[in-house]
Amino acid sequence: MFPLVTGAYWQKSGYTHLSFLHQNIPEVKSKLPNIGQTIFTVMSQLAQNEKAINLSQGFPGFDCDSELQKLVSHFMQKGHNQYAPMSGMPKLREAIAEKTRKTLSINVDPDSEITVTSGATEALFAAITATVHAGDEVIVFEPAYDSYQPAIELSGGIPVFIPLTMPDFSIDWDLVKSKVSDKARLIIINTPHNPSGYVWTSDDLAQLAAIVEDKCIYILSDEVYEHIVFDGRKHLSLLSHPQLRKKSFVCSSFGKTFHITGWKIGYCIAPKALTVELRKVHQYLTFSTSTPMQLAIAEYLEEESRYLKLSAFYQQKRDLFCEGLKSTPFKFFPAQGSFFQLVEYGHLTDCSDLDLAVRLTKENKVASIPISVFYSGNQDPKMLRFCFAKRDEELLQALDRLQKANI
Ligand code: PMP
Ligand code: GLN
Repeated sequence: MFPLVTGAYWQKSGYTHLSFLHQNIPEVKSKLPNIGQTIFTVMSQLAQNEKAINLSQGFPGFDCDSELQKLVSHFMQKGHNQYAPMSGMPKLREAIAEKTRKTLSINVDPDSEITVTSGATEALFAAITATVHAGDEVIVFEPAYDSYQPAIELSGGIPVFIPLTMPDFSIDWDLVKSKVSDKARLIIINTPHNPSGYVWTSDDLAQLAAIVEDKCIYILSDEVYEHIVFDGRKHLSLLSHPQLRKKSFVCSSFGKTFHITGWKIGYCIAPKALTVELRKVHQYLTFSTSTPMQLAIAEYLEEESRYLKLSAFYQQKRDLFCEGLKSTPFKFFPAQGSFFQLVEYGHLTDCSDLDLAVRLTKENKVASIPISVFYSGNQDPKMLRFCFAKRDEELLQALDRLQKANI
């Protein structure tokens, strides 16, 4: 089998054990014994080795706006090269508040409710660490983004996994009601959803609000694809729901919005009391985030079309990719949001999704992500995820290869 690099794989390889013996230092008792290298690293590395088109890890295959790059060097040359304030540059927090006002008609206080973090990953980790105590249950919908579970477990929390309903990955609210126990402390949601693209509806918000009403449960809402929704849909932030907002940490990322995943600049919006606790963790996790980049983004945000045009930009790519998929044997439902497209292949072969992803990378030179890795158990719904945040020519070439693939 292809070495999915899990903790178990490392242990089996004997690598850690032997190296510790040679150096005569005690073996580390892992806090995350079942965790290895993420599938994103594994597949991107394989794509590189195989010289395949990399539609696996989610990052844009084109550069960010040169205006944004110029702004970074401008602020560097003006001497903005030292620590930013712990909570983020005031100018950026104000710009985020302004964006929230423009897009959601909601006022958030930049001083007490917004924290700039080193990517959404840090915001998610800090929110989980701030709220989850040993023995607390955390509701996670799966397939789930891979950073949630390790963060929960490092805090001693117990993830309670709830499967999303096929084929559209919507939420079975009766099932949720039956799974939320008195021990539940946090519910993690993700809209638009990675990997399925599912976008929450107003009914989803209402159902969630009814479940958490009168309970001491917080919500962590991962909204990194907030500006990428299709077919006239509207992204419904948890900030737009007055009851939910009082209990929610809402996280986002400029990596997705401005094609700068390598800059790792994200943020978290939460009520003052929650922000106080989040910042206690953030203060010692990273303390603060790159100063010139924060200043550049703050200025770049002034022109709202720069984020408002993103849905149309990616819808053209989703449509182009889905049009080409029609000439492959895959089945699919066009994504509602995000920059990922799922395809089903169970009617074609019994091959595991990991094996198929590896085979397509090696033989057809197109890399994808197997969906089973987004599940905690052994589920394999026989689906692959393709990232369409790539140049049109690259997408067309990948489609040509997939159309010729012998699956
Ligand atoms: N949440 C989801 C659902 C993601 O897909 C990603 C990664 N792209 C992140 C969080 C992490 O965002 P960042 O790169 O800003 O840390
Ligand atoms: N969010 C990206 C994805 O889903 C990957 C981020 C990462 O590599 N950690 O592909």
